[in-house]
Amino acid sequence: MVFNGTKEAERLIRDELIPSGITDERVLDALRKVKRELFIPQSLRDKAYGNYPLPIGENQTISQPYIVALMTQALDIKRDNTVLEIGTGSGYQAAILARLASTVYTIERIESLLMKARTNLYSQGYRNIFLIGGDGTAGLPEYAPFDRIIVTAAAPKVPETLLEQLKNGGKLVVPVGGRHVQDLKLVEKAKNGRIYKQSLCGCRFVPLIGKNGWKD
Ligand code: SAM
Repeated sequence: MVFNGTKEAERLIRDELIPSGITDERVLDALRKVKRELFIPQSLRDKAYGNYPLPIGENQTISQPYIVALMTQALDIKRDNTVLEIGTGSGYQAAILARLASTVYTIERIESLLMKARTNLYSQGYRNIFLIGGDGTAGLPEYAPFDRIIVTAAAPKVPETLLEQLKNGGKLVVPVGGRHVQDLKLVEKAKNGRIYKQSLCGCRFVPLIGKNGWKD
């Protein structure tokens, strides 16, 4: 059968994402516009709109579409927001964020993934995504504070450094727990600086490796 990404994306949204509570039209629209097949190995193209993670090389994955949508929806991104992502991976989540925010900074520790994502995003015309190599658990103090922060790898606890780099009134999503199974947390920093945490669902992410994450 001939692969039709637009049709496949519609099916995923209609049959899986909306029934699971993804109802923010801006998020659904971003998921329609960003072609997941452009962020995975060509050999996996037919699986691009399956609701599961896929390998992207270097033992890393592009996250499940439902989790990408849920994290993005939970962030409630405003047009003028600056967003920090830890864990660029394929660059897919960064592309979704870039359609909703004004500026996206994304950090990746594996050089080959970073280079690939940079070339790919640039060739697709994204000009509001800045890709940086290194340990994202340190955040990006030179550009802080951020309106929104998203961590797309599993942390042993909410990284303090990232909380410090979140604006008052800001939101952060991060999977927290063991190396294999975690809780997806939404952390909100109120206008007065108080921190509120809630669990969104159980999840499975690859580990966040770094100074304020897991040891390699
Ligand atoms: N957001 C990605 C996407 O859209 O394809 C998926 C991210 S993948 C599940 C997790 C990524 O986090 C991997 O590429 C991994 O190398 C990266 N990572 C792990 N620890 C990191 C750290 N301390 N700093 C930056 N990136 C890290």
